[in-house]
Amino acid sequence: MKLSDINAIENLLKNAGFSFKKSLGQNFLIDDSVCPAMASAACDDDTGVIEIGPGIGVLTTELSKRAKKVVAIELDERLKKILPVTLADCENVEVIYGDAMKLDLKRLITEKFSDCSGVCVCANLPYYITSPIIMSLLESELPIKNITVMVQLEAAKRLCAEVGSRESGAVTVAVNYYADAEILFEVGKESFLPSPKVDSAVISLKIRNKPPVNVSDKSKFFKLIKACFAQRRKTLVNTVSNTLGIDKDVIRNALQELGLSETVRSEQLTMQQLADLSERI
Ligand code: SAM
Repeated sequence: MKLSDINAIENLLKNAGFSFKKSLGQNFLIDDSVCPAMASAACDDDTGVIEIGPGIGVLTTELSKRAKKVVAIELDERLKKILPVTLADCENVEVIYGDAMKLDLKRLITEKFSDCSGVCVCANLPYYITSPIIMSLLESELPIKNITVMVQLEAAKRLCAEVGSRESGAVTVAVNYYADAEILFEVGKESFLPSPKVDSAVISLKIRNKPPVNVSDKSKFFKLIKACFAQRRKTLVNTVSNTLGIDKDVIRNALQELGLSETVRSEQLTMQQLADLSERI
């Protein structure tokens, strides 16, 4: 069965009495070219893959062809009627029914992928949890090589922006701290069933061996970053002072020491300048 064929999918779903749940971000891929490209970018034949949200298995089957092993985590138990059929020929795939946000992925990696040379994450992510999932994958410092995921185009631009550019935000800095991020290709809304309101993009996050900047207190650094971008229309001095309750003069002095104007906005600072600021405040 061709899982990207819209008629085949509609028949399959109808026979199983399946209806899409918007609350689970269920927009299934119906474009032939997307899943092979995603799977090729994500893994090779010695890699173990964690897929989040296999849906009816369209990306899973492509990952199965290219990876050593695939563990797919699906929250919607109604797909128990469909996935065993669509993945019948994929012997290296295991489906776990549960919430990817709640599973202990470190343990899963140890238990399932000890025979693989590396592990990666590949998914067409449910959009309602894009940033929380990506941040939790990065912050938990899992032993993974890369994350290749489909996200909404606007989110892709923010996640992969250059720190210090207009598009950057707190999530850009956080992603950049852990990974080298790039947009691989864009995918139009017509490539999904049902079609969402906006276009998407596949992004690649290659996990860094070490962060691009040294900070003595990581949690303090990230607290400052959140504050820097909390009120985007305000200057850095105002948003940090308002959010963290720090005296404006302390922030002004720190900026002055770094040779930065007191009217500077957070999105104008580079990664190194943000790290230096965190050491001074
Ligand atoms: N991979 C399929 C595709 O590309 O056609 C489906 C992608 S669809 C955008 C997102 C999938 O994630 C759905 O199957 C949905 O049920 C599942 N999902 C939603 N929230 C989840 C969660 N917290 N943990 C695991 N899967 C989840």
